Amino acid sequence: MTKNIHIRTFGCQMNQADTEIISSLLQEQGYRMTGSEDDADLVILNTCAVRENAVGKIMNMLDNLKGKRRIRPDLLVGVIGCVPQYYREKLFDMTDGIDFLAGPDTYRQLPMLIENAEQGVRGAHLASVPEETYTGIEPLRSGSISAFIPVMRGCNNRCAFCVVPMTRGRERNRSMKTVIDEAGRLAEKGYREITLLGQNVNSYRDDEAGCDFAGLLEHVARAARGVRIRFTTSHPKDLSESLVGVIAREKNICNSIHLPVQSGSTRMLGLMNRGHSREEYLEKIAMIRRSIPDVTISSDLIAGFCGESEEDHRQTLSLMEKVRFDFSYMFCYSVRPGTYAAKRMEDDVPDEVKKRRLEEIIALQNRISAERHAAEVGKTVEVLAESESKRSSDMLMGRTPENRVVVFDRGQSNPGDLVRVKIHASTSATLVGRPQ
Ligand code: SF4
Repeated sequence: MTKNIHIRTFGCQMNQADTEIISSLLQEQGYRMTGSEDDADLVILNTCAVRENAVGKIMNMLDNLKGKRRIRPDLLVGVIGCVPQYYREKLFDMTDGIDFLAGPDTYRQLPMLIENAEQGVRGAHLASVPEETYTGIEPLRSGSISAFIPVMRGCNNRCAFCVVPMTRGRERNRSMKTVIDEAGRLAEKGYREITLLGQNVNSYRDDEAGCDFAGLLEHVARAARGVRIRFTTSHPKDLSESLVGVIAREKNICNSIHLPVQSGSTRMLGLMNRGHSREEYLEKIAMIRRSIPDVTISSDLIAGFCGESEEDHRQTLSLMEKVRFDFSYMFCYSVRPGTYAAKRMEDDVPDEVKKRRLEEIIALQNRISAERHAAEVGKTVEVLAESESKRSSDMLMGRTPENRVVVFDRGQSNPGDLVRVKIHASTSATLVGRPQ
């Protein structure tokens, strides 16, 4: 009898892309993917360990599943991804009700782990496989409009606060050819948007082909003409002028860049081991804007990292005023055991100060986002319709090439259509318009 598998995905786009690879791998083995845990024989949690509360979510989810197992004792539960890679087999002692564990490099072992679990044998496969890129596995994609292509895995940077190098290991790149071929296939299948993924895509390299990320992006844009091309995530120190030149030249590469800065203070950037100063970041922003005037830039910001003073915090706020990000992901610093910061630095900013600084950062970002969006009112923009709006099925939601979210009257349009939309209203998060 065919077994149903439900995969619940937490965290970043890389995890979403991994879920599509795993779905393909398990479908190959005769399992059927199901959208709900209620009719699943096996529930797999694909997890994120980037912050403490991310792990808390997993523990709550496992508690819920324990309840389901009381009613359906044959229900199997697997935990994969960054949390088991971070806690390793200790996770079996932290909570019961887990049948197997697998890490980001060992998804090819899942069929074996599941078979054993079906025989009542609990198992874990948490090896680091430095060359693993899952090349050759065609992802079972959840949508038909936008697609992810992971071009590399892992990260060689050592930011003091970050667990990613511990959970996803050192960088390894897919060959340029396999990425270009995949992009071409997606274009043929009618996908409208492709996002190239990597923890730090800018450091992508295919030495055999003598190709860096700028070269890869250019090839992909040409292999998928008419398809919007995006990429994430960039590290400021590796963002090159040649990459910005490619974005400016190739019309189907979207003019939006996600460029995490984390702090506006050079002193904090040093303590975080980010490898660049405030001034160098601002120079990169100026270089980007010289080549791509209407580019939008988004970022990541951390409030309250070890040793952060009020002056450092003011530096972050003043950098935000200077750059005027379109939007940002903003968090309080959360100690992650095993990181350099956890081992060598004191988490000395009191929680209430962290919270107050985060509130100030969020308030400033919301003001800037609202002002930038208000400047779009009256303009006509090109929107790739992605889905029905949560507000009403008479409205669609989509994005501009600048990655701005637009909600607009449906009219004759459908998800997947490119629609010219006149903007008549805005909020800090959304533009509202009517098709032209
Ligand atoms: S660049 Fe830094 S923050 Fe980003 S994944 Fe690598 S170590 Fe983490």
